[in-house]
Amino acid sequence: MLTAWVALPGCAPGWQGDPDDDRVRVVTSFSVIEDLARGVAGERALVRGLAPVGAEVHEWELLPRNFVDLEGADIVFINGLGLEQWLEQLRATLPAGVPLVALAEEIEREAIPIQQGELRGGPDPHVWMDPRAAAEFAEIIRDRLIELDPEGEEDYRTNASAVLEELEALHDELAGTFARLPPERRLLITSEAAFLYFADTYGFQHAGIWGNNAEEEGTPRQVAGIVDLIRETRPAALFWESTITDRYVRGIAEDTRLPVAGPLYVDSLGRAGTGAESYVAMMRQNARVIMEALTEGSD
Ligand SMILES: [Zn+2]
Repeated sequence: MLTAWVALPGCAPGWQGDPDDDRVRVVTSFSVIEDLARGVAGERALVRGLAPVGAEVHEWELLPRNFVDLEGADIVFINGLGLEQWLEQLRATLPAGVPLVALAEEIEREAIPIQQGELRGGPDPHVWMDPRAAAEFAEIIRDRLIELDPEGEEDYRTNASAVLEELEALHDELAGTFARLPPERRLLITSEAAFLYFADTYGFQHAGIWGNNAEEEGTPRQVAGIVDLIRETRPAALFWESTITDRYVRGIAEDTRLPVAGPLYVDSLGRAGTGAESYVAMMRQNARVIMEALTEGSD
């Protein structure tokens, strides 16, 4: 029965379920959007991610299974604003007529410019670090899935309402948590300056060693710049992120005699057991790590 292994149009291997499974096939660029899309889709649609949990999303390169997923996709959700440096490769792979939706470019919220490095002045892509923006992502996903699969409208609306409620509660919870931290302690220094939206939402000052992971990382100039800022502002700790090396942060922490805390999750959810396995869990985990590190040593 060799024929059983031959891929037929519309039932590409890699997409789970039997060939008669005619549910809508949703492809997402990375784990944060994948999680939001799964929440909205529920059982009604199949959802896949391209860059998997733990991967560096900015510079991801499509794998054979990603091509299979894209060839079978009914719709693709990406972040946009330059996050996916591999967008041209994705576009070239996507069958004609399949909608490609750049969520961060469709929301109402305005993009914050990158503050440092080679890409300074361009829109910062890490919009999802504000839960209110993540909620806008979920609304767009809901509306686009209803367009594609009108018979599923009730399911998508019900699922999306639960997601939106959870995100609203998350935002209130985080606002309450960070309100307990005196403003002068709200200094967030990381490797990649990926927390601009988060900082703007919760009243932090924020800088990274470099501005964006698409840049060269840890150059002498970047290191000198952040060391000056650290000496000036004296944060309680420095932070590292899950998808990039902590080498530079650790070196700088040693030079400036500061503790290191982490990982923080930005460009990917955490693997099983990290406490950051979903978007909501990842934001809570970040809050725990930040609060613990920045309240340390305070009166
Ligand atoms: Zn990033």
